[in-house]
Amino acid sequence: MKVTRRDFFKVTGATVASFAVVDLGFDMTATASAIKGTRTNGVKPVPSICPFCGCGCGLVVYTRDGAPADGPQLLSIQGDPDNPINRGSACSKGSAMFNLREIYDPETGKQIINPKRMAKPLYRAPKSTKWEEKDWEWMLTEIAKRVKETRDKHFEHKDKDGIIVNRCEALSSLGGAALDNEELQLVSKMSRSLGMTFLENQARI
Ligand code: SF4
Repeated sequence: MKVTRRDFFKVTGATVASFAVVDLGFDMTATASAIKGTRTNGVKPVPSICPFCGCGCGLVVYTRDGAPADGPQLLSIQGDPDNPINRGSACSKGSAMFNLREIYDPETGKQIINPKRMAKPLYRAPKSTKWEEKDWEWMLTEIAKRVKETRDKHFEHKDKDGIIVNRCEALSSLGGAALDNEELQLVSKMSRSLGMTFLENQARI
């Protein structure tokens, strides 16, 4: 497209006039804050601490009051930029905190329910392709039963050279990062009393 000298002055003149109008009267700040206000209207940020590991990163839980019967709605959970430990960041697990089924709101004293969270243990029988919901009583009894069966079947008092070993290599223990030192000591004692030699604990950092 050919732009004449006259066209150029028309366009630049109109642009300068637009900026002048903005400078003189149009309040962009008010418009921006109004848009932001509708999105954040009624949102309550609650500082909290991530429960997943011993780092204790700070998180901010954002909620908004829903219908009275529903209680507060959980909107988002982000790293707390004011927390000196993590300064707004969170690891992959902390970032996925939104999936927790229940979160305690210290200001209202209520539990915030996230319907996306699984509320019951799931069990898949050997060779089955389906998961079944089970209660904790069934699940813990089943785990205890299988641990005992495995230990009774595979416990070795002596190895093939006649050396006393008192071990069960068919069982192993893998701990989660949420466990603290005292809990891990108990896990370690229990595992070793069963004869386990393969013990590991995941660290978050
Ligand atoms: S490192 Fe991750 S899991 Fe541990 S407290 Fe921080 S966000 Fe939570």
